[in-house]
Amino acid sequence: MKQQLVLLYQLQKTDSQIEADEVELSKLDNGEVLAGELEAEEGKLRELQDRLAAAQAELHDKQLQLQGTEDDRKNKWEQTYGGMVSDPKELSALERKIEELDRRKDKLEEDIILLLDEVEALQEQVNQKQATVGEMSSRLDAVRQHFARRSAELSTELKQLVDQRSALEAQIKSDLLDDYEHTRQHSGNVAVAVVEAKACSACHTSVAGNLLGELEEPTRIVRCESCHRILVLDEWT
Ligand SMILES: [Zn+2]
Repeated sequence: MKQQLVLLYQLQKTDSQIEADEVELSKLDNGEVLAGELEAEEGKLRELQDRLAAAQAELHDKQLQLQGTEDDRKNKWEQTYGGMVSDPKELSALERKIEELDRRKDKLEEDIILLLDEVEALQEQVNQKQATVGEMSSRLDAVRQHFARRSAELSTELKQLVDQRSALEAQIKSDLLDDYEHTRQHSGNVAVAVVEAKACSACHTSVAGNLLGELEEPTRIVRCESCHRILVLDEWT
């Protein structure tokens, strides 16, 4: 009987480890949530890069316009004051044109200053977002690597435990196995408890002296009087 109870306790330890591994496997982070967050950040980065490119294009365009306006003004100024035009009407039209070009130049210069600030601010935002995306991306790699490694380890261990369980099961009498399964179902998956310091290790209730005596040379299953789990002795395990 004692040998059977020892096997039963080994079966219990195997089942507890199987359960623990299965729980760990089901809770392993495969990086799905982080991947979703990374995708959202990459979307924001693309949006910022588009806005930066648009601001840079607009800045370039305004700079070209400014150059054109300055060239135009220079030509008009040379025409006006170069002594080639003498008609007063024509001269006054050229002067008005120069004033208009001056106003356009001022406006373009204001726009360019604003755009330079905008480009600088957007570039800073792009840099920050790129750093965030880079950091998240390496974190995701680490999470995925850990998931791959740990899930492989757990799967291997579970296969071994299942084999171990079958081997133990084959050595235990069927009525004892039935009793074990029945008790396990009603006791939070733990059917076998060890007597530690004369108490049940599962519910910590003291085990009566006569039961302890019986456990020395067991002829039947001895149960905890409080939680009804099957008791085994510390020194057997
Ligand atoms: Zn107990």
